[in-house]
Parts: sequence; structure tokens; C-alpha cells
Amino acid sequence: MLQLYMPLNFLGVLYREIKQSLADIEKLFSLLDQNQDIADSAEAKPLLITAQNGAEIRFAHVDFSYESNRQILFDIDFTIPAGTTTAVVGHSGSGKSTLSRLLFRFYDIQSGCISIAGQDLRGVTQASVRAAIGIVPQDTVLFNDTIEYNIAYGKPGATKDEIIAVARAAYIHEFIETLPDGYNTMVGERGLKLSGGEKQRVAIARTLLKNPSILIFDEATSALDSRSEQMIQAQLKEIARSRTSLVIAHRLSTIIDAGQILVMDKGRIIERGTHQDLLAQQGAYAQMWERQQSSGNDVGEEDGSTPSA
Ligand code: ATP
Repeated sequence: MLQLYMPLNFLGVLYREIKQSLADIEKLFSLLDQNQDIADSAEAKPLLITAQNGAEIRFAHVDFSYESNRQILFDIDFTIPAGTTTAVVGHSGSGKSTLSRLLFRFYDIQSGCISIAGQDLRGVTQASVRAAIGIVPQDTVLFNDTIEYNIAYGKPGATKDEIIAVARAAYIHEFIETLPDGYNTMVGERGLKLSGGEKQRVAIARTLLKNPSILIFDEATSALDSRSEQMIQAQLKEIARSRTSLVIAHRLSTIIDAGQILVMDKGRIIERGTHQDLLAQQGAYAQMWERQQSSGNDVGEEDGSTPSA
């Protein structure tokens, strides 16, 4: 009994940790096919996304609390039209990652509705929602296996040509070619340690291979030199092309082209618009922009006080 309990208990701990960090969702799903907290309804149907209509994401008047005594999101209302990019910015703790957790339906909301392609998440199977979403997390956990395996994980049975094509698109192919065993180099905790940026590029290649309709890009908070920043901008453009994308951003310079930017503060959307619209409003976003331009800090490094609009 204990023998059975231990691994199950371990999986429970792993599940909670990964759910919180969004660190390596695909790994989680391979271990636990069932979400423990949220069950599919008996009538749940697979999410249907057609090439014609695409995957519009809609949050309609969403209120949410993790615990009953503390509300985290207040009347969150926005639409990401199919094939476009929406970026979310705001201080640490303002609720940005919670939006992505809810899109995966790790939790059910207290009021309002979240839908993809017009289908309420509560009425579709979780497996089909997961299959439709690709995530590039802040901190990618690599398997103790070859770099090829780590990329191919995005699409079981992928050919070598497909793997090389996505590695090129993610600007990691040339780096891999310099490694002693090329694509067969062992990486992960027990292999070659990759830098944060290299790991993120592996995650991008993996996601390109998965080819999801929806992309969540959780930008790393670590400081970057301007060359790496330009590279991330180029990669983001590549990976977000023709997908419905939600970008959780820390550096405003990476999202100036986003179709829509949502500014969050203490669980509310306080401003919204394009980069130009928001600068013209001269509110919280314009202040953050000015501060980042002068200090090079990301949003999360600021003092966390309410930006005065
Ligand atoms: P950051 O930029 O630091 O990642 P964020 O804007 O993404 O922050 P969230 O992670 O969405 O913020 O957290 C929003 C609020 O919800 C925070 O106050 C946090 O403490 C709270 N919170 C997050 N996860 C949980 C949880 N599992 N249980 C209870 N409260 C939580």
C-alpha cells in the first residue's frame, strides 16, 4: 500500500507545483492524464477550432478567487481575436499568470465565462483544451535526455527534418551544431546545462513543432542585453504568427507590436489599447514605459505600488 501511496503522493506534489509555476505543463500532462481538481462534465465535447474561424479567446466578466476569503480577479473582460496577439503587463501579483492558469482550466471561475472559439471551457474536454494550447514558460524544465528528444516532445513521431526546421526557426540550430554530439547531446540536470535563453529557445522549437492554435508566452523576467532582447522579439513574432497569443510581458519593448495590451493592477484591467494608444493616454502604462526606458528595469522589478493613472 505504501509503495503505491508514495508515487501517488509524489505526483500530487508535482502536480501542485507545476500547476502553480506553469513550468512544464506538457511533462505534467504525460504523468497525470486527469486533472485532479477539475473534472470533465459528462456531456463535455472536444473543443472544435476550425481553420476558417480560428481560436478567439474571450474572458467575459470573470471574477476569480483561489481561496474564498480573497478575490484575485475582478470583472476581467477582454477578447483576443483569432490569430492576434494580446499582451498583459502589470506589477508582480497583479494576476497575469492567473489568466493563463484559467485558460488551461486549472481552476473554475466564480462568475463570468471563459471561452475559446465560442465554446465555454466548462463544456469541453480538458484534453482537447490542452492540445490546442502551446506554452513557452518562463523557466523550461528539460528532460534528462538528448536535445533532439527535448524538441521532439512537442510532436511524438516528428521526423529529423521537422526537428531541424523548428530548431532553425527558434534560432537554436546553429548552437546545437556546435555541441559535441549535436542533436544527440544529453541535456537536463544530468547532462549539459543550458542557459535560460537557450532553454527558452528549446521550448519555442518544441511549441513550433506542436503547432497549437493558441500560444501562451510567459516572458522570462531575467535581465537581457539588447541583442538577446531583439532575438526574443524576433522569435515571438515567428511563433505568434497566425496563432491566437497571450503574452505575459515584463519588458514593454518586446510587445510594442501587440494588437492589444492589457494593463493589470490588483486583479483589474486598468488600461487597454495598443502601445501608441496607451502612450497617448499618459497613464500607468506610459509611466511604466518611461521608467523602463530610463532604467532598463522590467515591470516586475518596480516597487509594486499602484501606478497612478
Ligand atoms: P508575477 O509577475 O510575479 O508572476 P502575476 O501578476 O502573474 O505575478 P499571479 O501569479 O497571477 O500574479 O498572482 C496573483 C495573486 O494571486 C497574488 O496575490 C498571489 O499571491 C495569488 N495566488 C497565486 N497563486 C495562488 C494560489 N495557488 N493560491 C492562493 N493565492 C494565489
